[in-house]
Amino acid sequence: MSDNNLHPISQAVRIQTPTTWQGEHSTPLYLTSSFKFEEADDMRGAFAEENDDNIYTRFSNPNVDEFVQKMVALEGAEAGFATASGMAAVFSSMFALLKQGDHLICCSSVFGSTFTIVTKYLPKYGIECTLVAADDKDAWEKAVKPNTKMIYLETPTNPQLEIIDLEWAGQLAKKHNLILNVDNCFATPLLQRPIEYGANLSVHSATKWIDGQGRVLGGVVVGDAALIREIYLFCRNTGPSLSPFNAWVLSKSLETLDVRLQRHCENALKVAQVLEEHPNVSWVKYPFLPSHPQYEIAKKQMKAGGGIVCFEIKGGLEAGKKFLNSLKMLSMTANLGDSRSIASHPASTTHSKLSEEERLSVGITPGLIRVSVGLEYVDDIIKDIVQALG
Ligand SMILES: *Cc1c(COP(=O)(O)O)cnc(C)c1O
Repeated sequence: MSDNNLHPISQAVRIQTPTTWQGEHSTPLYLTSSFKFEEADDMRGAFAEENDDNIYTRFSNPNVDEFVQKMVALEGAEAGFATASGMAAVFSSMFALLKQGDHLICCSSVFGSTFTIVTKYLPKYGIECTLVAADDKDAWEKAVKPNTKMIYLETPTNPQLEIIDLEWAGQLAKKHNLILNVDNCFATPLLQRPIEYGANLSVHSATKWIDGQGRVLGGVVVGDAALIREIYLFCRNTGPSLSPFNAWVLSKSLETLDVRLQRHCENALKVAQVLEEHPNVSWVKYPFLPSHPQYEIAKKQMKAGGGIVCFEIKGGLEAGKKFLNSLKMLSMTANLGDSRSIASHPASTTHSKLSEEERLSVGITPGLIRVSVGLEYVDDIIKDIVQALG
C-alpha cells in the first residue's frame, strides 16, 4: 500500500487499500464483520499468521489498515493499531504492556480519563503510578524505581498547554530502559513526531484534529513493532477495535490534515495575540507566543503552536460562565479539534466536581477558558471573543 519514496504528507493522501475490479478512485467501505476463504488451507494459514489475509474485523479490516498505515507513515513508526476511541488507545497501550508489580510514571496534567485510568483502575491490578508535574524534571528522575516500566506523558498538555521536552524525556527513558509513551493528540504528527525523540509509542484521540470535523470517535497507537504486536494481541482478544466506517472517515480526513492544521495554527496564533493585548485577560497561553514559559522547547520540537489557546479571564468563575453565555458564534461543547471554534470553561464544567484546591493542583484556575480555534474566517472568531470579553 505505501510508497516510501513519497513524503509522509503525500503518503497520507496516497496510501490506499488495493483498488477492486470496479476501478474506484476513493476507497470503498468494507462493511463486513468477517472475510471468507476459498480453501480450508488458506483459512488455516490466516489463523496461523502465515499470510496476512483478513479474518475478522475485530482483528483487521481494509479501511482500518489504510488509516493505520497513513498514521504509521506520518509518525515515522514501525507499526500501529486503531481503536474505537482515544481512551481505548490510551488504556490498551498501558494495559497490554504492564503487569502486576510494574510501576508507571505519568505526567500529572494528563487528560481527565487518563488520570482516572492511572489512579483508579491500574492500581486495582497491582500496577502503581507516580504522578509528576510536567515542569519538574528532577521529580521525573527521582520517580524512577527498579520496577518502573513506562513513562506516560502528554505534550502540549490539556488544558494548560504545558510543553514537555521530548528530547529530554527520550533520553530519560533510554537511560533507564523504559517505554516512553506519548499522547500526541494536541500536536498531531504534522506538528510533532515523538518517535524522532525516542518515544516508543505515540497514542492519539483521532476524534480531535484527525477527524477535525466533530463527526466520529477513534483512536490509534503507533510505535515499535514488538510493542504494537502486544497491543494488537490484547485488542484482538478484548475488542476495542475501530469500526470500518469510522476508519474510512478518518482515513479521508488525513488527506486534508496538513492544510487544515496550517489554518488552525494561523488562526490560533492571531487569536492568542489579540487576547494578550486585551485588558480583561490576565494571561494567555499559546505554545508559539514568546511569553509561553516553554516557548523555546515548543519552537524546537513543534512545527507550529497548534489550534488550542487558553487564557485566564479577569473575574474568576462568574466571569468565565458569563463569557461562555455571551458568545454568539463559538460553540459551547465538550469536543475540541473541530472545524468549528469551541470555547470551554473547565472550572464550571469538566472539572466542576473537584474542589477548588484539586482544580488548582491540575492547573484549572477559576477563570480559565480554553478555545479550540476553528476554520471560520479569523476576524469573525476574534470579533466574537472580543465582544464576549466586553
Ligand atoms: C480527547 C482526548 C483523549 C480521549 O480521546 P477520546 O477519543 O475522546 O476517547 C485523550 N487524550 C487527549 C489529549 C484528548 O484530548
